[in-house]
Amino acid sequence: MKIEDKSAFRIDTLFDADTIAARNRELADKIASAGLDNLLVVAVLKGSFVFTADLLRALYGANLSPEVDFISLSSYRSGLESSGEVEILRDVETDVKGRNVLLVDDILESGRTLAFAKDLFSARGASKVASCVLLDKANKRVVDIDADYFGFECPDVFVVGYGMDMAHSFRELPFVGVVVQENEI
Ligand code: 5GP
Ligand code: MG
Repeated sequence: MKIEDKSAFRIDTLFDADTIAARNRELADKIASAGLDNLLVVAVLKGSFVFTADLLRALYGANLSPEVDFISLSSYRSGLESSGEVEILRDVETDVKGRNVLLVDDILESGRTLAFAKDLFSARGASKVASCVLLDKANKRVVDIDADYFGFECPDVFVVGYGMDMAHSFRELPFVGVVVQENEI
């Protein structure tokens, strides 16, 4: 699916930019107080790239100077439903042995993506694998896993913006919103 006509959709704001920025500062303070030395932040792409960039600068404000790497995992293909399988599309370049790793993802839903990533970095010998997600859809969990840090509880709706997409669109929005199809109103 490609979204040819964005005017067919309205985006209702769920979390605005100021609210997200304030929460990022709180998360950074909590992460800083965990005393994770030699920290490696791993952004789980693509959806987390905006959140990770903002969280990283909030971590600077909390006096942390982590290294950063990226892993691209797919669970969602281009439809709305999860396939259930997680695949590495692009791997990190860093040797994580003995490192404290903070996985950063956009949304924790079934938990399959985060569980896969945690197992992967643990198996590679990371000292600790902590996790931080922007949004937690807690009642959608299939795997028994929780994030160490999360920004907001998210209702069971499909969200876009702040790095998150619907069929490759809407990542540029500076807020998190819900897609409403105009002809369904
Ligand atoms: P999980 O493996 O926890 O089910 O999958 C979480 C991943 O599914 C998220 O990182 C995100 O990529 C995708 N996802 C889950 N819910 C949504 C949503 O409402 N909007 C978007 N854009 N992606 C979602
Ligand atoms: Mg994701």
